[in-house]
Amino acid sequence: MDNVLEAPPLEESLSGNAIKLRKRLLRNVGQAIADFNMIEDGDTVLVCCSGGKDSYTLLTLLMALRERAPVDFRIIAMNLDQKQPGFPAEVLPAYFESIGVEYRIVTEDTYSIVKEKVPEGKTTCALCSRLRRGIIYRTARELGATKIALGHHREDLLETLFLNMFFGGKIKAMPPKLQSDNGEHIVIRPLAYCAEADVARFARAMDYPIIPCNLCGTQENAQRKQIKALLADWERNFPGRIESLATALQNVVPSHLADGNLFNFKTLDRGAVNGDGDLVFDEEAATTIASPVTETIRWMSRGVEQ
Ligand code: SF4
Repeated sequence: MDNVLEAPPLEESLSGNAIKLRKRLLRNVGQAIADFNMIEDGDTVLVCCSGGKDSYTLLTLLMALRERAPVDFRIIAMNLDQKQPGFPAEVLPAYFESIGVEYRIVTEDTYSIVKEKVPEGKTTCALCSRLRRGIIYRTARELGATKIALGHHREDLLETLFLNMFFGGKIKAMPPKLQSDNGEHIVIRPLAYCAEADVARFARAMDYPIIPCNLCGTQENAQRKQIKALLADWERNFPGRIESLATALQNVVPSHLADGNLFNFKTLDRGAVNGDGDLVFDEEAATTIASPVTETIRWMSRGVEQ
């Protein structure tokens, strides 16, 4: 381990609003951890920190939760220095030391590999992410980490859902808890219930030493940007829409989709009662669903007409 210090008290100087925000985020994270059994007694959680607002927030919240958690777990913060030009390598070690967290800095020049392998003008993110994932998994193995925590929040999950639907022909989001492809690691996303706006406001209040995310020179994925704008637009026009979409991720009704692998439509017949039967015209569905749907359809048709 690179260093271990005693933790100083956290967030002493937060304003009243920021304290409320912190409470809400802690509640969201605590709920996600409980709902998905993300952290268990004796776990070593490797928290991946990029220097962005999300991972700083994740680390702060997990450290705060550890203080009051009924289970005992260890946190190791990790940063991968990919040797991108201008990366301020001293920022994260100094921050980790200031908050007294165990940490590991891994330095691997994936930047040069990506530049060498990917033709000019092509997107570098796929190879870069693959390399990064391999290094994170290897580090988790070396440190004996039982969980790998990533800082994706609610909007990241939803953007991925729409990206997969629009461009991949799949209903598939980013799960709050995931087994790695070789079965060796468990990846958790404790911010899965946290709104991005809350995370951003909290990060501003905490005045984290943010490291810019465009050092590699690659622009943010254009399709993800579009989806982000679409979701933000929906939320602006119909506040609460994002919350409803996030809730929908936890209320999947296979009998009302069209995937024969999830629901056996072929053997569906009269007689046997199916608990998920047609609710379209039921009062409850009509009052809770029809109204916002109608608004959306009206609003979308306005967009089409304009
Ligand atoms: S934006 Fe840059 S650092 Fe991030 S995944 Fe893409 S290539 Fe890698």
